[in-house]
Amino acid sequence: MSATTTKTAAAGTLFTPEEQAKLVAWTKRYPQAPMGLIEALREVQIWKGEVSLAAEAHLAALFGVTRARVREVVTFYPFFPHEKAGKHRVSLCRNLSCHLAGGEKALHHLEKALGVAEGPATADGMFSWEASECLGACDLAPAFAIDDELLGAATPTAIDAALSACRAGKAPKAVSTAKAAAPVSDKAALTKDFADPKLHTLEVYRRFGGYNAWEKARTMAPADITAEVKNSNLRGLGGAGFPVAMKWETVPPKSARQVPHILVANADESEPGCFKDRVLMERNPHALIEGLQIAARAVDADHVYIFIRGEYALQKRLLEAAVAEAKTAGLLDKDVLVMQGANAYISGCDTALLETMEGKKAWPRQPPPFPTNAGLLNWPTVVNNVETLMMLTRVIAQGGEAFAAAGVAKSGGTRCFSVSGHVEKPGVYEFPLGTPIEDLLAAAGGMKGGRPLKAVIPGGTSTPVLTPEETRGLKMDFDSLRAKGSFLGAGGVIFLDDSVDMVDVLHIIERFLWVESCGQCTPCREGSGWATRVLARMKAGKGDAGDADNLVRLSENIMGKVICALGDTVGMVAAAMIKKFRADFDRRLEKPRG
Ligand code: SF4
Repeated sequence: MSATTTKTAAAGTLFTPEEQAKLVAWTKRYPQAPMGLIEALREVQIWKGEVSLAAEAHLAALFGVTRARVREVVTFYPFFPHEKAGKHRVSLCRNLSCHLAGGEKALHHLEKALGVAEGPATADGMFSWEASECLGACDLAPAFAIDDELLGAATPTAIDAALSACRAGKAPKAVSTAKAAAPVSDKAALTKDFADPKLHTLEVYRRFGGYNAWEKARTMAPADITAEVKNSNLRGLGGAGFPVAMKWETVPPKSARQVPHILVANADESEPGCFKDRVLMERNPHALIEGLQIAARAVDADHVYIFIRGEYALQKRLLEAAVAEAKTAGLLDKDVLVMQGANAYISGCDTALLETMEGKKAWPRQPPPFPTNAGLLNWPTVVNNVETLMMLTRVIAQGGEAFAAAGVAKSGGTRCFSVSGHVEKPGVYEFPLGTPIEDLLAAAGGMKGGRPLKAVIPGGTSTPVLTPEETRGLKMDFDSLRAKGSFLGAGGVIFLDDSVDMVDVLHIIERFLWVESCGQCTPCREGSGWATRVLARMKAGKGDAGDADNLVRLSENIMGKVICALGDTVGMVAAAMIKKFRADFDRRLEKPRG
């Protein structure tokens, strides 16, 4: 029997002809077949509830990779659970903002309603559930989703209604969060037209001047686009805050290496406390596509991708619809492909993202080389965040200097802050960089119930905590936050009131880092696990006298000894929290959790 006949026979027993055709299509979608592997595996998981060993072998042959490579991928990403999943997969977030809004209670309700523990399917095979480390929906806390369709706040009524709808055969459908974001500053650039619920359509986007910036950029030399971006002081809004033009300028000219250039929009927003990219893509998808066209011209990109996290099902649909509309209207010089991840936080780190896109486990790479020199498939690759790319439309439309004037020195323009935690109105609020934090809190309706502020996590849970004294008059921009020993990060601001216990908060953060560590570096993998276990013990009132000091010392043993920022975070956040809120930690030595 020939190899082809064997392959066909295996496919015949595993997959229907339609399924097989879809799998084959994934092998042809990207410049190299293995780039489609993870999305093909996603299909198999959805069709069968699992990826069996036979399916792994079949896909290995189909994609021209080893079985070990497929196994490595399947066992790495949370989208592929260890047990056969139910027909519908329910995810409920247990991270910080959702925890503060009653996530634990919601998890108990879900477990009771389904009658099974986390992991295995219900007896009828209809459901399985998992406690998610972050759904990117802190504004809807405690958030839950079914089959990656975000369904809003997990009240007992909402959970029961969603389960009943599934039992009645109705497919879950994500809720629109359009009302969650409205312009609050007269300088708002990206959210200024959010009042129109049809902004995501090409017709309305164009009515508000959409694609005018791209039409202007089309007439500009690539170097002039970069010069305008340099004048704007636009910095990366995904976390690092690196000057955008400077990153672009490190891409070697085509003449230096005869290989394609790649541009990727990093839409793998997964940092707890951050959800602005989700809202921006839902409300204003064309701004991302327009921004990508501008950036593609500047860096001479041949292939353009949006890499979106697996949990943003609605946003993926909207982006694909927007790409199709723009293409039909003849607006795209470069096609845009939307690629979906498999629910690993670490895929949001740019070099890990490239590994995921290549169809591998998301292990961050140790630079150099940096992606702009050797990125996807070893080709020069620019990875920019969603909001950063959207801002390009404003830079080109207004001109770099005018854009810069809205912000502060070295941090031009506005940015969208995700505000959550103990505030009256969690949501996305766009303000000029350098806006006092008090304005953000006021826009979010102030502290919930008027309770006193205890702490602020200013840029997502990977950023060191600040005390109320440190936040007084604090300007929200990259350099002001650095001067306070923290970071603006991706702009996920979590306000905490005086009811929180920082041992609980730190335990949630360390558990997240432990679960999401890729495991490549021993200090990160072991340090995050050790910290989680110690904090769980402290939560139970069984802390040892040296625990707090050892947790502080953890940072000395990890910082600078790991490959990516996740590892550095493990010690850094613990040190800041314990030094600033020592009393909460000392209390756990004396009595059990009340
Ligand atoms: Fe992986 Fe942690 Fe090392 Fe980053 S620091 S590469 S997450 S083990």
